[in-house]
Amino acid sequence: MHQDDQHPDKTFVSHFPGHWPGVSPEDWNDWKWQMRHRVTTVEQLEKLIPLEPGERAGVILSGTKLSLGVTPHFFNLIDPENPECPIRRQVIPRMEEATTSPEEMADPCGEDAHMPVEGLVHRYPDRVLFLVTDRCASYCRYCTRSRVVSGAGDQELHTNFEEIFRYLEKHTEVRDVLLSGGDALLFSDERLDYLLGRLRAIPHIEFVRIGSRVPIFLPQRVTPALCAVLRKHHPLWMSVHVNHPRELTVEVRDALGRLADHGVPLGNQSVLLRGVNDDLPTMLALVHKLLQCRVRPYYLYQCDLIRGSAHLRAPVSKGIEIIEGLRGFTSGYAVPQFVIDAPGGGGKVPVNPGYVIYHDKEKVVFRNFEGKIFEYPEAGDPAILQETVPDGLFEDYIYS
Ligand code: SF4
Repeated sequence: MHQDDQHPDKTFVSHFPGHWPGVSPEDWNDWKWQMRHRVTTVEQLEKLIPLEPGERAGVILSGTKLSLGVTPHFFNLIDPENPECPIRRQVIPRMEEATTSPEEMADPCGEDAHMPVEGLVHRYPDRVLFLVTDRCASYCRYCTRSRVVSGAGDQELHTNFEEIFRYLEKHTEVRDVLLSGGDALLFSDERLDYLLGRLRAIPHIEFVRIGSRVPIFLPQRVTPALCAVLRKHHPLWMSVHVNHPRELTVEVRDALGRLADHGVPLGNQSVLLRGVNDDLPTMLALVHKLLQCRVRPYYLYQCDLIRGSAHLRAPVSKGIEIIEGLRGFTSGYAVPQFVIDAPGGGGKVPVNPGYVIYHDKEKVVFRNFEGKIFEYPEAGDPAILQETVPDGLFEDYIYS
């Protein structure tokens, strides 16, 4: 039996209607109703769940940093009785957000320094990050881009769409465009169709990716009409963002299924978060549920050094330990790559458990997931090998 079989959030559950008992299924399934009824104030919060004093202060403070905003769908996943609920920790502000540690930064990935046009980050040679909006369906308290996302902080995002299209037309080295922000899936179908159409009309752009948490926060947005728009613009890939198995509800599973049915390859990016998913049984349950939703666990991120996030950051050693507990013990498809986004703009760096014990010109010595030691002979230079092999041996080998 897998450890995740014991996990309380292993099964797919619908939390409708939860705190909204009077709502009709039609309204609940209307993504615009969900957006209009988001929980955004301390008064709303206090009516729904018992608030901790540190949360009340955190919400008030969030008005000048990163707004509070939670869709009813996602809010229903919170356990009201548990102040340490892993869903709650992700979206309800806490007083600790007011504390900035010396190593923390407003822009930990150094994006602003790589913006040739406002709203476009060109840090890697062949791909760009297109920040299409600063709005999300709900706001994650550890958001890497919290300096601009939600519009509450000091910095504003003024994406210059036409100038970005011109830049991309000129830069023939760009073959991959990632739409993020904020969340592109909050655009209307028509606007998204136009945006994707403009990008797909640029011949050297080979494919487009969308980074979105909308299928998780707001699965109602993944309508058949939206899926039809996305299908028009293939090859189009999507990275979703799920951190805890409870987030994979019946509605989310169905939304992800609709995307997959429309040919959108799906990967997941999780952030390693203290008290949310920094333990192996939770991560196992998450990756197994993701595969059932036809989503490949892609990255596990070490939490960026964003201001006020120390209370949510788990040690790097914990991430390595989790990967070590997955690799070999479950399907290879279930194992994400653990990465650290190098502070200041160095890009993603893979961080792996050490399996190689010794390596020279002759051999590599390594251990497997059970700790057993193996040796593999290093392949030599074929030219040197030929000199040392007796005449005729290669011919025998080739024709035998
Ligand atoms: S959905 Fe993404 S961009 Fe939006 S708040 Fe969460 S982490 Fe930030």
